[in-house]
Amino acid sequence: MKQYEDQRAIVVGGSIGGLTTALLLKQLGFTVDIYERTPDNLDGRGGGIVLQPATLRWFRECSSQHPEDVSTATRWVQYLDQSNQVITRDEKAWRYTSWGTFYRALLADFGDEGYHLGEFVCGFDQDADGVDLRFVSGKTARADLVVLADGIGSLNRKRIDPEADLTYSGYIGWRGTVPESELSPDTFTLLSDSLTYSVAPLSHINLYPIPAENGQLDPGNRLINYVWYRNVQPGADFDEFMTDKRGFLGKVSVIPGQVQDRYVDDMRQAAVDMLAPAAAEVVTKTKQPFIQAIWDLRTKHMVKGRVALLGDAATAARPHAAAGTAKAAVNAWALHDALIAARGDITAALEAWEPEQLELGNQVVDRVTAMGRRSQVDSTWTPGDPDLRFGLYGPGR
Ligand SMILES: Cc1cc2nc3c(=O)[nH]c(=O)nc-3n(C[C@H](O)[C@H](O)[C@H](O)COP(=O)(O)OP(=O)(O)OC[C@H]3O[C@@H](n4cnc5c(N)ncnc54)[C@H](O)[C@@H]3O)c2cc1C
Repeated sequence: MKQYEDQRAIVVGGSIGGLTTALLLKQLGFTVDIYERTPDNLDGRGGGIVLQPATLRWFRECSSQHPEDVSTATRWVQYLDQSNQVITRDEKAWRYTSWGTFYRALLADFGDEGYHLGEFVCGFDQDADGVDLRFVSGKTARADLVVLADGIGSLNRKRIDPEADLTYSGYIGWRGTVPESELSPDTFTLLSDSLTYSVAPLSHINLYPIPAENGQLDPGNRLINYVWYRNVQPGADFDEFMTDKRGFLGKVSVIPGQVQDRYVDDMRQAAVDMLAPAAAEVVTKTKQPFIQAIWDLRTKHMVKGRVALLGDAATAARPHAAAGTAKAAVNAWALHDALIAARGDITAALEAWEPEQLELGNQVVDRVTAMGRRSQVDSTWTPGDPDLRFGLYGPGR
């Protein structure tokens, strides 16, 4: 099993995709280092993640931590109308985590040794025997295998696929969390055991419970998390909207506390005007809402020699399938399997790995682009339509 005991791997990006990959490479015998640009521990990153089987596979098969220890669950999927009446309610269980809870759990399994914060990888070259990485700090490092898991804004992607570029979808997601304990009893009761949707013209929101910041999982002590999709015109409007309080333009996100106050005020008023009252209550009670712009990214290449590109760095799909981390995890597991099959030949493994991963990424992007059009362009996001369910491989799957 340990075919790669004398080999060194470097993973660029220490988020969920990078950590899952690094854990699996370690199992094959690689000595693994992760380089993450963020200088401080990342676990303060907020936001919920809908868990799909691939994301949880590490915990089901390889870890002493159990999926139930890092996640919350609901039993129903429901749509509310503008007076909080349930329009449709289907029995469909989902599990959720928060980015921080999941990150901490993966990092606990990886350990601190080999996890390097504050290191930005800015380029690389390779020869037949290895890859040389360059860091902005002036550091260099050499490895037999390099995995770029450096996210949607990957600087290094251009060295694998120079033509791959981000395309703005025309809308953004307002995100935020509110402690369940701060909700009115009626709203808590309505939301606590469901993935809840509220649909409005050219818009929809979904809400679900996630672990509290201290990891608490029991109903009443969790957070309600949401993503609310709103159109923002590309160009000057988008740039103004995404400029934070310090004057910095965020292409992908504006972090909590940095969204301009007037946009937050407008958003709170719009929530009251457009959404089911329960959803509006959560939105208006959010102390520090933040913004994630929704971009599409397709790639034609995920491999160059001994270097692989995976997760959001390779293809980024709009969140309507809630499948971003699942896709990154599938990429990582498939790489693990390809390396086993290639019996020590890293370049052969990467060549064999690439085609299916490209196809998976492009399929997800196709599907979520069509879903996004139904919500934000055509206003045909029909409550209860099973085609609109989350799922990496298709609705509900
Ligand atoms: C609104 C919204 C909702 C979402 N909801 C869900 C959901 O419910 N379920 C789900 O599965 N997914 C969801 N996603 C997608 C999910 O967040 C991503 O798919 C997932 O985080 C991808 O993980 P990653 O490891 O590939 O990249 P990232 O999480 O982006 O991590 C990349 C890492 O690389 C680091 N980095 C970048 N450049 C460098 C460099 N040069 N050197 C060193 N480090 C570097 C970054 O600091 C970062 O830590 C959502 C996304 C959005 C926008």
